Amino acid sequence: MSGAPRSDVTFLPLGGCGEIGMNCNLFGHDGQWIAVDCGITLEQAPGALRPSVQMPDLSFISARREQLRALIITHAHEDHLGALPYLWEQLRCPVYATPFAAAVLRHKTRNRRGTLPSSLIEVEPGERTALGPFDVEWLPITHSTPETCALSITVGDSRIFHTADWKIDNDPVVGPAWCSRRFRELGEAGIDAVICDSTNALRGGYSPTEGQVAAGLAKVIQSCEGRVVVGCFSSNVARMQTLATIAAKTGRYLGVLGRSAAGMARCAQQVGLLSRDFQPIHAEHLGYLPPTEVLAVATGSQGEWGAALHRLLTQTHPDLSLDAGDTVILSSKTIPGNEASVARLVDGLRARDIRVIAADDSDEPLHASGHPCQGELADLYRLLKPALAIPVHGEQAHMAANAKIARDAGVSSTLTGRNGDLFYLSPTPGVRRRFANVGRLAWCEESERLIGVTQAPSTVDA
Ligand SMILES: [Zn+2]
Ligand SMILES: [Zn+2]
Repeated sequence: MSGAPRSDVTFLPLGGCGEIGMNCNLFGHDGQWIAVDCGITLEQAPGALRPSVQMPDLSFISARREQLRALIITHAHEDHLGALPYLWEQLRCPVYATPFAAAVLRHKTRNRRGTLPSSLIEVEPGERTALGPFDVEWLPITHSTPETCALSITVGDSRIFHTADWKIDNDPVVGPAWCSRRFRELGEAGIDAVICDSTNALRGGYSPTEGQVAAGLAKVIQSCEGRVVVGCFSSNVARMQTLATIAAKTGRYLGVLGRSAAGMARCAQQVGLLSRDFQPIHAEHLGYLPPTEVLAVATGSQGEWGAALHRLLTQTHPDLSLDAGDTVILSSKTIPGNEASVARLVDGLRARDIRVIAADDSDEPLHASGHPCQGELADLYRLLKPALAIPVHGEQAHMAANAKIARDAGVSSTLTGRNGDLFYLSPTPGVRRRFANVGRLAWCEESERLIGVTQAPSTVDA
């Protein structure tokens, strides 16, 4: 790598630093790189029916692909793996992922244009992988989709900790609960730098657990009389498990509405993440059941055009129709930018006398974020005790708040920046602004190819 002494360990975000979405990070040492994640972001232009699928421009690393040892996928969310089918041809490196993330990647590649990596290597959480000079330990960490892994990267004399997306969840319903033992050990052994999720750094306290959400959903669903449809993010496998358990307890049958939710459920079943009581009936059978026996999980909690909840609203769903007295629960939060489409969904259902209970304004916990609030961030910094913290996965305000939490928790040095900045992690912290050319590509449906996005919609200033 030009300009960096051989001993340096560097970090170069190509996406996801200064924005939430399309994560792609590079770690460099001695002329070699590993990439971590390759995600998309959805940009909804005013007036457009569907959002545009956008992803980071990887030309910096594709021009150096003989120096790229591997690409690591930390977890199965779209903002971490969704761009890989579109961009892998540019990299052609081995891709490492956990069994669930690999199943999701195969599923997405089957159902979309794009290429499955010819070398897709499955790694169990807890394993270690040697990738050139990088020794990578896959550390299970709790998040809103299973098998998420933080990474401990040992390279040269340095140890770097990349958190991936995470929260502290002592009752995650699916997968192992939060365990700080290994994080504490690594902190005692010495960590040079932590790269950390900033999504919820503006929120105080701690996020609820999936177990608390399960209790909230059970309480609300028990009180419902007609059909119940629960909208949630399709990658939230724990939420689907929760609904299967509630269905069994309340004498209802669970159905899964929406292709992406059905696909995620199948991926989770394939790798053994769901319990035996997860036995959804075929969606086309839902319409024949008495209303009190129907519980459906549905896609489209953001009011997306054409998703299952939108079809229930417009009475065009082939498998189920809702009547007055039925209930729709939005077990999700409204993502900023989607307020209008969510309001259309809620108002339209209520106009038909369908009860709508949204997590955003319910007293019961009906949704839990997968990202750390301020209390969780401070706890992790105190465990890891890094010399340097670099907040990512957030807009400027989130990253600045995260950096302050790190300093308050005793981290002596913090750096914030933006995509394309080269951060020196070790031995001496520093940053070279605008080191690499970065940008966005958008998938154009008409021409079936990637086109450059001239102006990135989310603006950041380092
Ligand atoms: Zn993410
Ligand atoms: Zn995530």
